[in-house]
Amino acid sequence: MGRQGRESGLLAQLSKLDYLLITHYHNDHVGNAAAIAAKIPVGTFIDHGPTVETTDAATALYNGYLKGRESGRHMLAKPGDKVPIRDLDVTIVAASGERITRPLSGPSAPNPLCGAFKPKDPDPTENARSIGSMIAFGRFRMVDLGDLTWNKEQELVCPSNLLGTVDVYLTTHHGLAQSGSAVIVHALRPRVAIMNNGPKKGGSPDAWQIVHDSPGLQGFWQLHYAMDAGKDHNVAEPMIANPDESAAHDIKISAQRDGSFTVTNSRNKLTKSYTAPNVDGRPGAFSDFRREVPGAMHKITLADLPAPCRRRFPATSCGYKVIRVPFKADGTAVGSYEDFLTGFVTDDGYPWGRPVGVAVDRDGSLLVSDDGSNTIWRVAKTIGPYCLRHLTGAAGVGSTS
Ligand SMILES: [Zn+2]
Repeated sequence: MGRQGRESGLLAQLSKLDYLLITHYHNDHVGNAAAIAAKIPVGTFIDHGPTVETTDAATALYNGYLKGRESGRHMLAKPGDKVPIRDLDVTIVAASGERITRPLSGPSAPNPLCGAFKPKDPDPTENARSIGSMIAFGRFRMVDLGDLTWNKEQELVCPSNLLGTVDVYLTTHHGLAQSGSAVIVHALRPRVAIMNNGPKKGGSPDAWQIVHDSPGLQGFWQLHYAMDAGKDHNVAEPMIANPDESAAHDIKISAQRDGSFTVTNSRNKLTKSYTAPNVDGRPGAFSDFRREVPGAMHKITLADLPAPCRRRFPATSCGYKVIRVPFKADGTAVGSYEDFLTGFVTDDGYPWGRPVGVAVDRDGSLLVSDDGSNTIWRVAKTIGPYCLRHLTGAAGVGSTS
């Protein structure tokens, strides 16, 4: 079954597509867009703007898409834009050769691999214009950079890594060696990589090896057996959806808000579970967290944090920070406030959530909900520094959703 048949099978289960994102105007990414729109209503078409390719075939492909696009709304994607899908946080990180200029969240980490990067000749094709997106669900993060090529990928992670780390990396450009340098793949530190290669497209041995060697990789899956790469540059058969072309199987990811997820090979029903990263008591989880609060009289206030809310679309979650204001015994404030809890970070320092609610429990401990994992955290006053505990099912405290 070809791509067309496969898409028909998936569409049969749907009544409407809210969004159809076209990464760029190559046949394997836009070829069926108008046909899809003829079969099923599309709410909004997302693309990067006009094609940069001028051959007759490229023009015909683009015009065919424009015709299909007339049936829905159009969103011109710009780096930093959000695609407003309920419960998801989808950020455009690259489009039309441009990229985000600030880290997706929090301070970015310098990328030590940048020094070893060797650029290739500039890519004048549509590939370099690909839309790239970061898709987050709670603490789960997945990146899809379309067919973005070598130099453009590097701009996202050098000199510092603007993307952060991911749970799932959908290999860029089908695992072709024109993309997927170590400078980006290893900086993303994927826990799982899924190579969207065909039997004869992508899955280049060099690109495969870079993914295979990525530090911290726990799982590597492939859509097809890469016929020209040989056994040494293909994953084990159970992790390949289509070892041959007798049928069309897919790879399914099911993610939870806490960052855990499963990957299933629809061919053999092999499912592997990837657990949520440890969130309890990580050093540095809160920048100011381990400082002991001097004195007994402290009131804690929730303050607006407008800066991250500068978005073109209604924000799914803007977040707050918890500040600390010292008070005298008579109730008057002393000095200025300071940040107490500004966000939640992964083990390697990338923010995954922000405080969105705060309450004080009967024993005086502070309860804080986050916008990423549907968890309420308890900040308990103990002998010594404040400490952090998971709080599940606390009486009288509803969970956020
Ligand atoms: Zn492609």
